[in-house]
Amino acid sequence: MNLPICDYEDSQYQSQFWDQGERVYEDQVEAIALQRLLPPRGDLLLELGAGAGRNTPRYKNFKRIVLVDYSTSQLQQARASLGDSDRYIYAAANIYHLPFIPGLFDAATLIRVLHHMADAPYALRGIRQVLKPGGIFILEFANKQNLKAILRYIFRRQSWNPFSREPVEFARLNFDFHPAAVRSWLQRSGFNVQRQLTVSHFRIDFLKRRLPLKLLVTLDSLAQWSGDLCQLSPSVFVRTQAVGDTTKAAAGQFFRCPACGNSPLEASSASLDCSACGRQWLIQDGIHDFRVT
Ligand SMILES: [Zn+2]
Repeated sequence: MNLPICDYEDSQYQSQFWDQGERVYEDQVEAIALQRLLPPRGDLLLELGAGAGRNTPRYKNFKRIVLVDYSTSQLQQARASLGDSDRYIYAAANIYHLPFIPGLFDAATLIRVLHHMADAPYALRGIRQVLKPGGIFILEFANKQNLKAILRYIFRRQSWNPFSREPVEFARLNFDFHPAAVRSWLQRSGFNVQRQLTVSHFRIDFLKRRLPLKLLVTLDSLAQWSGDLCQLSPSVFVRTQAVGDTTKAAAGQFFRCPACGNSPLEASSASLDCSACGRQWLIQDGIHDFRVT
């Protein structure tokens, strides 16, 4: 299956989107939501769409973290700030074709990524497969049923219906989802929804300019708890647990061929090689390149 990919290669996403200071509010309220949803400790965490590693330091209670992104330049930025150690593994990969054996991870996160995925249910099934039974998956998605969209729809400033279940693609490869649709995909993929937090309630330029940051963050932090009752914020965090059976991960195995699914891969000097399909997955500058072309 060849699904389109939103690639941040060579983009200045971290420096232009996050580091300019205009999104300090979004960054801080996301940090609060993550802290509330993350398990207190764990061994191996999979960070999907890790980008330049903005959230990675927040996973401090995990022993090892695998950062996955499609863009090697984003991963190089992450590596420059986090460094090379046994604690971090950097892998360029397509989320639809994950290069890991089933049942490997204790936890996974997908923050600000699902809104770029044309086939979200397919991606969620793949993520479930690489989690252990009982593993925790934290998902953030962009909510089409947000207050601003509802008001715009009521006042005829927007044609699409925020209450209908189908995703809305408001720009190419930028989707907003209905919370009930996301919950249903999660359940069908083998995830049990445990908690929902609504986040970024005050993502309105007027408020961000006029009110002190600390006040907005405090108010959002309180409003997050309403997420299990209703979801009207632009961003929603969901904590889920993997249920049902998973193939037990073979001891000592980690990667599998993302093209044909074969494992184990054979290590050579600068690559991992698949004996089944003959592909070589290069390791360059500390980054595993598993992108299927
Ligand atoms: Zn293969």
